[in-house]
Amino acid sequence: MREGNRWMNKLAVDGGTPVRTAGFKEWPIFDEREEKLLLEVLHSGKWGGTGGALVPDFQSKITQLEKQFAQYHDAKYALACANGTVAITIALQAVGVKPGDEVIVPSYTFIATASAALAFGAIPVFADIEEETLLLDPDAVERLITPKTKAIIAVHIAGAPANLKRLKEIADRHGLKLIEDAAQAIGASFEGTKIGAIGDIGTFSFQSSKNLNAGEGGMIVTNSDEVYQAAWSYINVGRVLDGAWYQHDRIGQNYRITEFQAAILIAQMTRLEDQIRVRKQNAALLDSLLGQQEELITVKETPGTTCHAYHLYMLRLAPEFSERVDKNDFIRKLNAEGLPFSYGYIPLNKNEAIQKSIEEWTGKPRIDSCPVSERMCEKEVLWLSQTVLLSDEEAMNDISEGLRKVIASYSE
Ligand SMILES: *Cc1c(COP(=O)(O)O)cnc(C)c1O
Repeated sequence: MREGNRWMNKLAVDGGTPVRTAGFKEWPIFDEREEKLLLEVLHSGKWGGTGGALVPDFQSKITQLEKQFAQYHDAKYALACANGTVAITIALQAVGVKPGDEVIVPSYTFIATASAALAFGAIPVFADIEEETLLLDPDAVERLITPKTKAIIAVHIAGAPANLKRLKEIADRHGLKLIEDAAQAIGASFEGTKIGAIGDIGTFSFQSSKNLNAGEGGMIVTNSDEVYQAAWSYINVGRVLDGAWYQHDRIGQNYRITEFQAAILIAQMTRLEDQIRVRKQNAALLDSLLGQQEELITVKETPGTTCHAYHLYMLRLAPEFSERVDKNDFIRKLNAEGLPFSYGYIPLNKNEAIQKSIEEWTGKPRIDSCPVSERMCEKEVLWLSQTVLLSDEEAMNDISEGLRKVIASYSE
């Protein structure tokens, strides 16, 4: 039974009753679909990347997955690879980024967006984000373009498409390549087209927390024959598509995925659309429950967004409220109420390992200033994971009630 004024009760951190003890949806989700396909791979004896593809009549799960993924993402080509981090390195190299070239990336993202460039000596330059959407700010990107700039990486953070219209226009005007880091955005769409291949190339991740999960794994999508062939080569130790086995025309690595991962992903894809629908529905409910609370700000979508895929539900503390509240303390109180809010990213432009690596490659220190992203990280943004959004309506009401209870404790 829900008591009307339960949030007036003592906080769980102070020994009160938590708002929620039921937990949230368990992850990963699987059933006999995964079991069947995994056993097919096991008994086929063809477990590995290119090995199976060379056998006539072999029904490769990797090939099947790539076809389905390309179709699903409105792309001409999809190429599976080892993970979402190397997918970005491959994408950068496949569009022609070279050591010493500059790549503009948002400061509010996972480290791989930047470290994938540094892996081969390309230099990330950090652009700030928009306060309302938490996505790469096209104006900030434009200010950072120099003769050394070769590419822009748009990150669809939380599953929300970045402003691809403006970023593409800027990239085209300056002769730059546009890469989409879509690790969090499987299924999202912008102006009615699935993200991923709207730019020159897009990358995805199947790491275990992501919305499509194979434990590990990655995917690249593109509409360009040339980019596809180069990416294939980087994934396959510099081999050439349709070339001889020991013909290596460039320095690539073995970045292949396995048939086992492809089997799991084919099964996971059968639930993807339903899961996106549930996440969107629950996110909309949270937006309406929390939107009226003056201490909170819900995150806006970029104009042109036709589907937010919700890898995360992000929420902001309003600036005035965040001034009197310590973000860590606020999260600790929510966690005690049974609500798994987390802190989220630390601004990448302030990451010392990245700064050191930039200095090693260029011989000069460089620290970018990204005040919006720094304030969002340090004061305002809270995260809920996609698995929370797969729970039921009751769970969303509990989240709202827990937030009210904790917020009220700051004005007592
Ligand atoms: C998860 C993630 C990656 C890296 O993917 P892995 O498969 O874990 O290597 C890259 N970029 C973003 C935005 C991510 O969330």
